[in-house]
Amino acid sequence: MTHRFFIPPDCIRSTEVRFPPETARQMQRVLRLSPGDKVVVLDNTGFQYDVQLEQISSGEAAGKILAQAKVTAEPRVRLTLLLALTQREKFEWMLQKCTELGAAAFLPVITSRCLVQAKEDASRKVPRWETILREASEQCERGLIPHLFSAQSIEQALHQVTSGNLGVPPAAFILSAHEQQVSLRAALERMNPSGIAEIYVLVGPEGGFTLPEVSAAVQAGFQPVSLGPRILRMETASVTVTALVLNQLGEMETKPQPRG
Ligand code: SAM
Repeated sequence: MTHRFFIPPDCIRSTEVRFPPETARQMQRVLRLSPGDKVVVLDNTGFQYDVQLEQISSGEAAGKILAQAKVTAEPRVRLTLLLALTQREKFEWMLQKCTELGAAAFLPVITSRCLVQAKEDASRKVPRWETILREASEQCERGLIPHLFSAQSIEQALHQVTSGNLGVPPAAFILSAHEQQVSLRAALERMNPSGIAEIYVLVGPEGGFTLPEVSAAVQAGFQPVSLGPRILRMETASVTVTALVLNQLGEMETKPQPRG
C-alpha cells in the first residue's frame, strides 16, 4: 500500500514537494522510507500527487511530482453531523468511522443530557480530534479532511445552522429514538435527491434529547426521523445514518479512478 500524506498546499510546487518536518520525521523514523520510494501527497483541496522521494532525513524530506489527479472518493453531498458530546473513546470512534463513510463536517453539540458539559473539555481535545480526522481521511483515501466546528450548546448549534453561518439547510434531520412515524428513508424519498447539496443530522446522547430540545430543533427546521424500531447506541446511530444517507443519495457507488 502506498503511504498517503495530507500536507499544506504551499509545500507543493509545480514539480516538487517539500514535506513539513513532522511528516519528514514520520517518513524516516516510523515508516522507514528512503529516496526512490513513492508516496501519495494530498493538498486537502481535492487533489492528489504521486511523488517520488529524492531526499529524506529526520527533519527534511523532498520529492518530485510524477503525476497529479483529482480525488474521486469525495461525496458530492456535504453531510454535517451534529454529534452530542460523549465520552472520549466513543466520540473519537464516531469521528473516525463517519469520516471513513464520507461525512464532510462534524459539530460537537452539548445537550442537557450530555455526559460532557464543558466546552473547555472539548476545546482541549481539538488537536487530537483533528489528527483522528486527518489519519482516517488518509487511510480511507479521501481527498478532503472533514471540517471540525467548535463545540457549541444545542441552542447555538441550531442557530448557527439556520442563521446562515453554515448556510440555510435544505435538508436537516434530528434523529429521534421515539419518532416512529417518518423513517429517514421516507423523508429522503420525498426530497429531490439530485437537488440536495447539504444535509445536517443531529444525533442525541445516551440519554436522548429532552422534549424542549426536540421542539427547538423542529422550530429551527430539523425534521424528526427514525432509524427504525430498535434503539441504537448513539455511536451506532451516527454511523448508520451516515451510511444510509450517503447510500440513498448514490454516494456509495464506485466511481472511475483517476488512473490505473
Ligand atoms: N433512551 C434514549 C431516548 O430516550 O432517546 C435513547 C437514546 S439513543 C441511545 C442515542 C441517540 O441515538 C438518540 O438520541 C437518537 O439521536 C439516536 N437513535 C438511536 N436509536 C434511534 C432510532 N431507532 N431512530 C432514530 N434515532 C435513534
